[in-house]
Amino acid sequence: MHKMLYFDYSAVILEFVLLASILMRRMTNGKINSMFIMLVTVSIFTTSADIIAVTYDNLGRGFYYEKMMAHSVYLFLRALISFIHLNYVIVLTDTWFKAANNFAKKIKLFFPIFLLVAFLTANVFAHNIFYIDQNGTYVRGDNFLWLYAINGYYAVYGAVKIFKNSQMMDMSRIISLFVGTFLMMGAALIQFVIPNVLIDMFACSIGLLFIFVMVQRPEEITDSETGLIKLNTYAYDLKRSFINQKPETLIMIRLNNYLVIREMLGYMDTIIVKRMIADMIVRYLRSSKIRADVYYIGSGNYRVRLENHDKEEVAKAAEYINEALKEGIRYNEMQINLVACVCITNIPEDIDDFDSLCIFGNDFSAEYTGNVLYASEICRKSRYDIMREIDKIIENAISENEFEVYYQPIYSIKEQRFNSAEALLRLKTEKYGYISPELFIPAAEKSGAIHRIGEIVMESVCSFIGSEEYAGLGLDYIEVNLSPAQCMENNLAENMIGIMQKNHVQPSQLNLEITETASGEIQNVVMDNITTLYDAGISLSLDDFGTGYSNMTRIASLPFHIIKLDKTFTQIEDNPNLIIVLENVIKMIKALNMKIVVEGIETKELVDHFARMECEYIQGYYYSKPLPKRDFVKFVKSSI
Ligand code: C2E
Ligand code: MG
Ligand code: MG
Repeated sequence: MHKMLYFDYSAVILEFVLLASILMRRMTNGKINSMFIMLVTVSIFTTSADIIAVTYDNLGRGFYYEKMMAHSVYLFLRALISFIHLNYVIVLTDTWFKAANNFAKKIKLFFPIFLLVAFLTANVFAHNIFYIDQNGTYVRGDNFLWLYAINGYYAVYGAVKIFKNSQMMDMSRIISLFVGTFLMMGAALIQFVIPNVLIDMFACSIGLLFIFVMVQRPEEITDSETGLIKLNTYAYDLKRSFINQKPETLIMIRLNNYLVIREMLGYMDTIIVKRMIADMIVRYLRSSKIRADVYYIGSGNYRVRLENHDKEEVAKAAEYINEALKEGIRYNEMQINLVACVCITNIPEDIDDFDSLCIFGNDFSAEYTGNVLYASEICRKSRYDIMREIDKIIENAISENEFEVYYQPIYSIKEQRFNSAEALLRLKTEKYGYISPELFIPAAEKSGAIHRIGEIVMESVCSFIGSEEYAGLGLDYIEVNLSPAQCMENNLAENMIGIMQKNHVQPSQLNLEITETASGEIQNVVMDNITTLYDAGISLSLDDFGTGYSNMTRIASLPFHIIKLDKTFTQIEDNPNLIIVLENVIKMIKALNMKIVVEGIETKELVDHFARMECEYIQGYYYSKPLPKRDFVKFVKSSI
């Protein structure tokens, strides 16, 4: 009977188009892609073998050996597709490392395909899989079902694997993989029932197309600007490693001056610079024959995930990348300096979950030294545990009253007494001990908990000021910090004034510290709050003056009573230029009729130094660290 080849012709065209589109779009990064390319390539060979075999069949009698050969090759390749499909699922779930050192698993994987080769070889003599009868017709033998058993085995193996690892994939990927698998395997069953409809390879190619579009998702994998792998795939790959408990070695690269470069070069030219860096990394890895996945995850962040965990090789690669980045980039007659931080991170020794990895990825560059960093040396795991749970910790601290306000005295040199104090919030938890405000305040700002925290601090400070023990201390006022997010709260001023009135606190007994960041973003609501508080008679300080956001005109335009010089101004030793800046800053503030408080004073020399520069108020460990209320009361009393 004449067999129709139209389906096979369509299949081979589809497979070629698929292969060309993968190769032409240069999506050859990574093991998953390589395995998929192999799957498509073997499918092309399989379909071709089928076409050849059927063409011979259609010629009628004769061509015995050619027919035997072509059918054997086709049947072998068809089973190979199932085998490679299973391997594709294995690399997709990144579980190969589990089989790598496990003999039983290797047998489970390879034995059936060896068995198939043995069957097909034996078939040349035994004719029990298929044979060519005297009419030259291809006829299935008694053991033909074995081939289906082997194909089915691999299909079921793959399906179980997808199912077992379903937690690391989103639903649409899982469904697509199942559908793809079903198309690739299900059509074989149809062909089994109706042998003359050669639909198998056509369905197989549609299955591949489906997997290509829905599982490979080329647009999601490759970052079109750098040609590297994108953030969501990075997240997917690493989450999967954490789930599989698979050790990983990462070289993390972060351009500290990315924003400056973007500002300087503009959007389009920054893309070219990003690409040049990507090419440099990829070129080095290729030339050193290092197998790795390279990702660009945005904002000047690159990640290299190495397959080989050999410490020396990893260190050498990181060293090379670090040095190459230090040289900067020549582009358009410009020499662009790159301030890049390179860090080697081992998973899970250094970091054992994805969220912590992201937090670490955002702030390891603060440790910049110019040399390659090691996460094992700079990453304090507990910090990342805290960051991961911080919202829960804060909520818990609010409901369990774990926040406590400490007070740090401020000394007036002129009056020779402690005239005020700054209220500083402390959080002590059972699990982690003390957690720094530098960690929980920004987190509370993000989550919105800062508003409730602000009220807790205000209540606590106001009830202290209203108490009898406070009356005996002779302090003029207490300073309370207001974070940028608090300043944007609609009814901040009303709330604050309400709490003060409830506790019978006079406006002059309070002073609110605003950081420069907050005063930098002067939005209407911030301005309204500041004006209402000011009109109510509460004085304001500008906190941390001298850090990143200094804006001279702003000092003049807002009604500050006090400017608090930041700790950085205390590093004047051996820095004559800083002294000149400092002297002029002090002169300027005084000319504006504002008071100066110097923060972070730890030594007698510094007290004397600032006293000579006529800075009247001093705050710092030299006098006292922030103290719990009871100790603070004792401390100030003993100084009177
Ligand atoms: P800040 O307002 O600039 O507070 C001064 C910080 O310097 C405090 O850190 C204080 O403990 C520390 N400090 C004081 N003297 C010295 C010294 O001599 N040497 C050194 N090295 N440090 C000194 P702390 O308590 O860790 O607070 C950090 C920041 O957290 C504060 O900076 C403030 O911005 C924020 N913060 C603290 N409590 C609150 C609060 O109740 N509300 C808000 N919104 N922010 C708060
Ligand atoms: Mg402060
Ligand atoms: Mg400060």
